[in-house]
Amino acid sequence: MKQSAAFSIGPEEELDLGYCREHGRALEAYCTQCRDIVCPSCVMFGTHVGHTTEHPSHASRYLRAQIDAANRSGRLKPEYSDRFLSDIRETKLKCLNTKKQTLEEIDVKFNALVKALKGRREALATEVINHFSEQLQEIEEQERRWMEKEGISKDLLAFSSSPDDAQLVRNAFIILSGIDNLNEGTGFHTAKLITGINSNLKLSKQEDVKVGFSQLLNDLENYASFGDDKQIQYRA
Ligand SMILES: [Zn+2]
Ligand SMILES: [Zn+2]
Repeated sequence: MKQSAAFSIGPEEELDLGYCREHGRALEAYCTQCRDIVCPSCVMFGTHVGHTTEHPSHASRYLRAQIDAANRSGRLKPEYSDRFLSDIRETKLKCLNTKKQTLEEIDVKFNALVKALKGRREALATEVINHFSEQLQEIEEQERRWMEKEGISKDLLAFSSSPDDAQLVRNAFIILSGIDNLNEGTGFHTAKLITGINSNLKLSKQEDVKVGFSQLLNDLENYASFGDDKQIQYRA
């Protein structure tokens, strides 16, 4: 068994360390390499062959000395860990807050975009509906007029094909007003059509700059990116 200088101090008191689970022999040495207690078989032909060992009572004094040294250096004081923990926890809090703020910002910005697009869609659809209902009202008025004339024509043809002269005279007013109606002048009426939408995006601030629809879609699909990563330091 090799022995190391740092351990070999003071009398060797026997410590009851129990028995080796592998060899069943008393654990009577301390392996400094594995930081574990070993039996003679462990060292002679077990996993600790060639390792440096110490008497357990020396190891116990060594361990006490190590703890004392750590204590004297101040590292066992709660304040020592607290200093790092408070830095770590502050960093953790910054991460959580920044994450929350960024997610909120995404919600706010995209909600505004979605709201603006929905509002615009509603306004455009309403304008189209109102425009065409005005136009259709006028067209349908003309349709009614000409369906009436169509009816008058049929009636007049029916009177003329009947040999009943008495009936003809009795209906003089209807017949002559009908002919007046058919003689009314005709003219051109105009229906105004909205034929589609201009899907270019007109930028309100720069009158001359236009963004094509496919470009707008593409730009919206890739809308908003992240700024530079900000690095914050913490100690641990
Ligand atoms: Zn053993
Ligand atoms: Zn060992």
